[in-house]
Amino acid sequence: MSAPIMIFLGTAGSGKGTQAQKLSENLDIIHLSTGDLLREARDNKTELGKAAESYIAAGDLVPDALILDLIKESLTDPKIREKGCILDGFPRTIAQAEGLSSLLEALSISLDKVFLFDISLEETIERLGGRRICATCHRIFHIKHNPATAESHPCDGNLKIRVDDTEEKIRYRYTVYQEQTAPLIDYYRSKLVTLDASEAPDKVYETIKGQIMALEE
Ligand code: AMP
Repeated sequence: MSAPIMIFLGTAGSGKGTQAQKLSENLDIIHLSTGDLLREARDNKTELGKAAESYIAAGDLVPDALILDLIKESLTDPKIREKGCILDGFPRTIAQAEGLSSLLEALSISLDKVFLFDISLEETIERLGGRRICATCHRIFHIKHNPATAESHPCDGNLKIRVDDTEEKIRYRYTVYQEQTAPLIDYYRSKLVTLDASEAPDKVYETIKGQIMALEE
């Protein structure tokens, strides 16, 4: 079995990023987050970053063509085939899923599983309201459920609140998800594993890890 290629699908605040970070650190799988790549481009004021900035701030999706260019560059890295990859927050539209499928086919890589992080809007509001992200190492914390400590946050960089983590933006992003991303649930039905993302993060982690191990057997 070759290294696993997986998609993490779910609304903002469903725990995709937190789980992807932990799995990537513990299992040495590449974590590709289009949100992280876009925020980095925005902070570095690259052409892509400038083009994406207003979409990110509004909670709208960045145009498919920009995202597909961005992901193409990352997917062609030979490490993807060697270590496997978690696509976190991509694809988010049917057009992106079709673009991904062509890219993977051209690279002779096959998609193994799509994990759907299932959670209510109310819970995501609670989670995202307390979310803090390190500007340096990009680790994700929560002021109540997962506070940064010397052990969990060795770099001790500045913790920031994302511009799109206000309640109004969270609600708006949820509707964007329902309209543009939720159709992917049917699109990926044959590879879908639905997770109860309201469960404790450690439990969700063990479920995903078990699925990955089963793939590698
Ligand atoms: P995230 O960190 O995944 O919540 O993404 C934050 C923001 O980045 C989104 O609200 C979008 O503006 C943009 N973004 C991230 N990934 C994508 C994608 N696959 N397609 C379009 N926009 C994206």
